[in-house]
Amino acid sequence: MRIGAHVDQADPLAEADARSAEAVQFFLSDPQGWKAPKPRADADRLRAAEVDLYVHAPYVINVATLNNRIRIPSRKLLLGHAHAAAEIGAKGLIVHGGHVNAGDDLSVGFDNWRKTFAYAAESGGFPLPILIENTAGGDNACARRLDALARLWDALGDHEVGFCLDTCHAYAGGEELLDLVDRVKAITGRIDLVHANNSKGGFNSGQDRHDNLDGGTIDPELLVAVIRAAGAPVIVETPGGVAGQGADIAFLREQLGTGA
Ligand SMILES: [Zn+2]
Repeated sequence: MRIGAHVDQADPLAEADARSAEAVQFFLSDPQGWKAPKPRADADRLRAAEVDLYVHAPYVINVATLNNRIRIPSRKLLLGHAHAAAEIGAKGLIVHGGHVNAGDDLSVGFDNWRKTFAYAAESGGFPLPILIENTAGGDNACARRLDALARLWDALGDHEVGFCLDTCHAYAGGEELLDLVDRVKAITGRIDLVHANNSKGGFNSGQDRHDNLDGGTIDPELLVAVIRAAGAPVIVETPGGVAGQGADIAFLREQLGTGA
């Protein structure tokens, strides 16, 4: 089980080294902006790295929304990031499940997800796995609760799509962690990546506030049980930089008995 962290995009391999991480996740652009990612000068070095790379798509992307002015650029930005992530040899591109606005029909949001994959298919499809991540908040989210996630997976049908399970988002989003992995896999058939985070917000608070693994409102033993059951690579998106994340990675290695 490879364990790593979400790190700054300037020099991800140095960040991995500093944390003894076997995997890193980073952004390829401003996560709050609409700019397409630029080619990276270190692309060759990243492609050749032993560290597994994951790219997180910008937060502004919402391919589900009925708002054309957000949805259309979101599709383009997601596909652009997919090509840029493939260019550096990333194993997956993580993108939030998105939402529709209050009063809008969520089933149209699921269909917009399907259209996003159809749009990519017109130019040969996504060049790397797209991992849809569950989210913590909102009343009209596509991937907050598992009942919505099931409808999303139904809508995506035969399209090749992966899943990223965020433990903070699940708990704060109102899904019990006990047996969560089984319930998710019954829907998606797979978990490609775990975002291992404790939660500053309480159960079903809807708050997306990550905490270090031994802090927060989730029993760390329960977190470890979820991560073990998932059996997927792990990225901590926790505070505290090298020290905080390094301690979280060491904690997981010790609890999971993975050494390294
Ligand atoms: Zn996450």
